[in-house]
Amino acid sequence: MKYYDKLIFELSAEGKRGWSLPKSAFPAVPALDAELLRAEDPALPEVSEVDVVRHYTALSQMNFGVDSGFYPLGSCTMKYNPKINEELAAHPGFASLHPLQSDEDAAGAVALRDGLEKCLCSITGMKAFTFEPCAGAHGELTGLMLIRSYHNSRGDFARTKIIVPDSAHGTNPASAAVCGLQVVQVNSRPDGRVDIEALRPLLGDDIAGMMLTNPNTLGLFESQIGEIAALVHECGGLMYYDGANMNPLIGVVRPGDMGFDVMHLNLHKSFSTPHGGGGPGSGPVGVNDKLKEFLPKIKVSAFHGNFAVMMRAYAYILSLGRENVPMLGRLATLSANYIKESLKDVYCLPIEGLCKHEFVFDGLADKSTGVTTLDIAKRLLDYGFHAPTIYFPLLFHQSIMIEPTETEGKDTLDSFIAVMRCIAEEAASDPEMVKSAPHTTPVRRPDEATAARHPQLKFADL
Ligand SMILES: *Cc1c(COP(=O)(O)O)cnc(C)c1O
Repeated sequence: MKYYDKLIFELSAEGKRGWSLPKSAFPAVPALDAELLRAEDPALPEVSEVDVVRHYTALSQMNFGVDSGFYPLGSCTMKYNPKINEELAAHPGFASLHPLQSDEDAAGAVALRDGLEKCLCSITGMKAFTFEPCAGAHGELTGLMLIRSYHNSRGDFARTKIIVPDSAHGTNPASAAVCGLQVVQVNSRPDGRVDIEALRPLLGDDIAGMMLTNPNTLGLFESQIGEIAALVHECGGLMYYDGANMNPLIGVVRPGDMGFDVMHLNLHKSFSTPHGGGGPGSGPVGVNDKLKEFLPKIKVSAFHGNFAVMMRAYAYILSLGRENVPMLGRLATLSANYIKESLKDVYCLPIEGLCKHEFVFDGLADKSTGVTTLDIAKRLLDYGFHAPTIYFPLLFHQSIMIEPTETEGKDTLDSFIAVMRCIAEEAASDPEMVKSAPHTTPVRRPDEATAARHPQLKFADL
């Protein structure tokens, strides 16, 4: 049994203490009324300081993060997070600000927000941003509310539908539903792009707009984006850009120039804040001139949004500078294509051609081994890599979605490629070994459905 197999409660022994306090120099305070006191002492573990330190250190080492290894999770951009960003975000001059302080008192923070807004406008081609939304999905809702305000302001109340492609991120239809819009799905062509001929008949005076991400969830660029935007505008709708994964475009093309009217960014994906388990996030919403006047009326969170994430984004952009920011999109695209081309003889590539920041394999090329995408993902853990996104998008049965990001060196990409090739060989020579992976992690194949449906989160439940 390993140290981390025990819960902190199981390490408890009567009389052990992790603290010692000096004798109080103050007079005794009067005892509290009996009704304010609990009937029994709380069930806290009794452990020494070293027990606590080792317990939590061991737990932290069971985890995998961007600081422990390569993290090729498609659609979610977990990239390198320069440590100077953390230092800046913790700077007491910013971290100690009170949200009710006046703009004059907080002139530095205001300047930072304005500076970041200027950078994002220049990167996206939008005219103004709000930083209130605290996640990508929160930004989507905000952007859709802006679209609704725009139509309502013209007395046009009939636009109750929004078009969303079948390849969209799940938050798109969810945000539209929360905003009270009816989702109309447009299907993709076999090459993974929006089918314009399927789009045409959906357009009319009940359409509020269309939500699109470009490159789409397969990492493919919608090459007919100009035509799509023109068709939606012709029918009176607006174009919403899901810029959660903007990194492949940064410095190459701008949503504002592609005909989008409103968009969100995920600062926590494309601008260097590591995220997971629900935060921290920032989903600023940018608008063009059509929607600018509606921005100040939108109030979707307390105060000014998630300021520390904004600070990291600003530090990332400024430390790269105007000369290097244009490298982001190019390097993200180069890294993804390098991996794709190096592996497509042993993994099944359903859609050929140039991808952007990510791409999707449909399991192994050799379907006779019985080794599935789940097995490959589990085996990668043995080699010290985080698994890619698996079984998403739903367009293929054995999806493996790989996104290396722009901040990984060629050495790391090469070792990932070597390990993926090695797993393909193992699948042929010793499929049972791959199917029973991982062999080296403290937790191997948990029952994920039961863990999600009946989570046991308290010691007493066990
Ligand atoms: C991650 C993501 C979102 C949602 O962002 P959250 O911050 O998780 O709410 C929306 N769209 C796309 C394409 C994404 O990848």
